[in-house]
Amino acid sequence: MPSYDANNIFAKILRGELPCHKVYEDERAFAFLDIMPRAPGHTLVLPKAPARNLLDADPGDLAHVMQAAQTIARAAIKAFNADGITVQQFNESAGGQVVFHLHVHVIPRKAGVPLKPPASVKEEPSVLSDQALKLAAALKA
Ligand code: AMP
Repeated sequence: MPSYDANNIFAKILRGELPCHKVYEDERAFAFLDIMPRAPGHTLVLPKAPARNLLDADPGDLAHVMQAAQTIARAAIKAFNADGITVQQFNESAGGQVVFHLHVHVIPRKAGVPLKPPASVKEEPSVLSDQALKLAAALKA
Protein backbone atom coordinates (compact mmCIF):
# COMPACT_ATOMS: atom_id res chain seq x y z
CA MET A 1 0.00 0.00 0.00
CA PRO A 2 1.35 3.51 -0.77
CA SER A 3 2.47 5.59 2.19
CA TYR A 4 0.67 8.65 3.57
CA ASP A 5 1.11 11.79 1.46
CA ALA A 6 1.22 14.87 3.70
CA ASN A 7 0.24 17.04 0.72
CA ASN A 8 -3.24 15.55 0.33
CA ILE A 9 -6.05 18.11 0.36
CA PHE A 10 -7.42 17.10 3.77
CA ALA A 11 -3.95 17.33 5.36
CA LYS A 12 -3.81 20.90 4.02
CA ILE A 13 -7.24 21.64 5.53
CA LEU A 14 -6.10 20.17 8.88
CA ARG A 15 -3.00 22.42 8.82
CA GLY A 16 -5.19 25.45 8.03
CA GLU A 17 -3.58 25.91 4.60
CA LEU A 18 -6.92 25.49 2.81
CA PRO A 19 -10.37 26.66 3.95
CA CYS A 20 -13.24 24.46 5.03
CA HIS A 21 -16.70 24.72 6.58
CA LYS A 22 -15.75 23.36 9.98
CA VAL A 23 -18.43 21.81 12.18
CA TYR A 24 -16.52 20.01 14.95
CA GLU A 25 -13.08 19.66 16.51
CA ASP A 26 -11.65 17.87 19.52
CA GLU A 27 -8.16 16.71 20.49
CA ARG A 28 -8.09 13.84 18.00
CA ALA A 29 -10.82 14.49 15.42
CA PHE A 30 -11.87 17.24 13.01
CA ALA A 31 -15.04 17.51 10.90
CA PHE A 32 -16.15 19.76 8.04
CA LEU A 33 -18.82 19.78 5.35
CA ASP A 34 -18.24 17.99 2.06
CA ILE A 35 -18.08 20.63 -0.71
CA MET A 36 -19.92 18.30 -3.10
CA PRO A 37 -22.55 16.95 -0.71
CA ARG A 38 -24.61 13.92 -1.56
CA ALA A 39 -27.33 15.36 0.71
CA PRO A 40 -27.65 18.56 2.81
CA GLY A 41 -25.38 18.37 5.86
CA HIS A 42 -22.98 15.78 4.36
CA THR A 43 -20.04 15.88 6.78
CA LEU A 44 -16.54 14.37 6.69
CA VAL A 45 -14.99 13.25 9.99
CA LEU A 46 -11.19 12.83 10.11
CA PRO A 47 -8.52 11.89 12.61
CA LYS A 48 -6.06 14.72 13.10
CA ALA A 49 -3.20 12.23 13.00
CA PRO A 50 -1.94 11.16 9.58
CA ALA A 51 -3.63 8.01 8.28
CA ARG A 52 -4.24 7.07 4.68
CA ASN A 53 -7.37 5.08 5.47
CA LEU A 54 -8.81 2.26 7.61
CA LEU A 55 -5.93 -0.01 6.68
CA ASP A 56 -3.10 1.99 8.30
CA ALA A 57 -4.99 3.99 10.95
CA ASP A 58 -4.12 3.80 14.62
CA PRO A 59 -6.98 1.75 16.18
CA GLY A 60 -7.44 4.37 18.89
CA ASP A 61 -7.82 7.13 16.31
CA LEU A 62 -10.24 4.96 14.36
CA ALA A 63 -12.37 4.38 17.44
CA HIS A 64 -12.28 8.07 18.27
CA VAL A 65 -13.31 9.09 14.75
CA MET A 66 -16.31 6.75 14.95
CA GLN A 67 -17.30 8.25 18.30
CA ALA A 68 -17.07 11.71 16.73
CA ALA A 69 -19.13 10.44 13.77
CA GLN A 70 -21.81 9.28 16.22
CA THR A 71 -21.84 12.70 17.92
CA ILE A 72 -22.18 14.41 14.54
CA ALA A 73 -24.86 11.98 13.34
CA ARG A 74 -26.99 12.66 16.42
CA ALA A 75 -26.64 16.41 15.97
CA ALA A 76 -27.34 16.15 12.22
CA ILE A 77 -30.65 14.38 12.89
CA LYS A 78 -31.73 17.49 14.82
CA ALA A 79 -30.10 20.15 12.64
CA PHE A 80 -31.44 18.81 9.34
CA ASN A 81 -34.62 17.19 10.63
CA ALA A 82 -33.28 13.97 9.12
CA ASP A 83 -35.04 10.62 9.15
CA GLY A 84 -31.80 8.64 9.08
CA ILE A 85 -28.03 8.76 8.56
CA THR A 86 -25.86 7.01 6.00
CA VAL A 87 -22.22 6.39 7.02
CA GLN A 88 -19.69 5.65 4.28
CA GLN A 89 -15.93 5.12 4.36
CA PHE A 90 -13.77 4.18 1.35
CA ASN A 91 -10.32 2.58 1.25
CA GLU A 92 -7.86 2.86 -1.66
CA SER A 93 -8.88 3.67 -5.23
CA ALA A 94 -10.33 0.21 -5.77
CA GLY A 95 -12.49 0.81 -2.70
CA GLY A 96 -13.76 4.16 -3.98
CA GLN A 97 -11.37 6.42 -2.06
CA VAL A 98 -10.40 9.68 -3.77
CA VAL A 99 -8.74 11.69 -0.98
CA PHE A 100 -6.08 9.76 0.92
CA HIS A 101 -6.49 10.97 4.49
CA LEU A 102 -8.87 8.71 6.41
CA HIS A 103 -12.39 10.16 6.56
CA VAL A 104 -15.87 8.97 7.43
CA HIS A 105 -18.86 10.37 5.53
CA VAL A 106 -21.87 11.18 7.74
CA ILE A 107 -24.82 11.89 5.47
CA PRO A 108 -28.24 12.99 6.79
CA ARG A 109 -31.10 11.29 4.93
CA LYS A 110 -34.75 12.10 4.31
CA ALA A 111 -37.13 9.23 3.75
CA GLY A 112 -37.53 8.53 0.04
CA VAL A 113 -34.83 11.01 -1.10
CA PRO A 114 -31.98 9.31 -2.98
CA LEU A 115 -28.36 10.37 -2.53
CA LYS A 116 -26.88 12.56 -5.27
CA PRO A 117 -24.05 10.81 -7.14
CA PRO A 118 -20.61 11.22 -5.49
CA ALA A 119 -18.80 14.50 -6.19
CA SER A 120 -21.47 15.61 -8.70
CA VAL A 121 -22.47 19.16 -7.70
CA LYS A 122 -20.35 21.75 -5.87
CA GLU A 123 -22.53 23.44 -3.25
CA GLU A 124 -22.69 27.25 -2.89
CA PRO A 125 -20.34 28.47 -0.11
CA SER A 126 -23.18 30.49 1.46
CA VAL A 127 -25.33 27.35 1.71
CA LEU A 128 -22.46 25.40 3.29
CA SER A 129 -21.81 28.25 5.75
CA ASP A 130 -25.45 28.22 6.88
CA GLN A 131 -25.44 24.44 7.23
CA ALA A 132 -22.16 24.44 9.18
CA LEU A 133 -23.61 26.99 11.61
CA LYS A 134 -26.78 24.91 12.06
CA LEU A 135 -24.82 21.74 12.69
CA ALA A 136 -22.33 23.42 15.02
CA ALA A 137 -25.25 24.88 17.01
CA ALA A 138 -26.90 21.44 17.28
CA LEU A 139 -23.57 20.01 18.47
CA LYS A 140 -23.46 22.56 21.30
CA ALA A 141 -27.12 22.01 22.33
P1 AMP B 1 -13.71 9.75 -0.95
O1 AMP B 1 -12.21 9.84 -0.85
O2 AMP B 1 -14.18 8.86 -2.06
O3 AMP B 1 -14.36 9.43 0.35
O4 AMP B 1 -14.25 11.17 -1.42
C1 AMP B 1 -13.68 12.39 -1.02
C2 AMP B 1 -14.78 13.35 -0.68
O5 AMP B 1 -14.15 14.59 -0.37
C3 AMP B 1 -15.80 13.64 -1.79
O6 AMP B 1 -17.10 13.44 -1.26
C4 AMP B 1 -15.55 15.10 -2.17
O7 AMP B 1 -16.74 15.77 -2.49
C5 AMP B 1 -14.93 15.65 -0.90
N1 AMP B 1 -14.02 16.77 -1.05
C6 AMP B 1 -13.03 16.89 -1.95
N2 AMP B 1 -12.36 18.06 -1.76
C7 AMP B 1 -12.94 18.66 -0.69
C8 AMP B 1 -12.71 19.89 0.00
N3 AMP B 1 -11.74 20.73 -0.35
N4 AMP B 1 -13.51 20.19 1.05
C9 AMP B 1 -14.51 19.35 1.41
N5 AMP B 1 -14.78 18.18 0.79
C10 AMP B 1 -14.00 17.84 -0.25
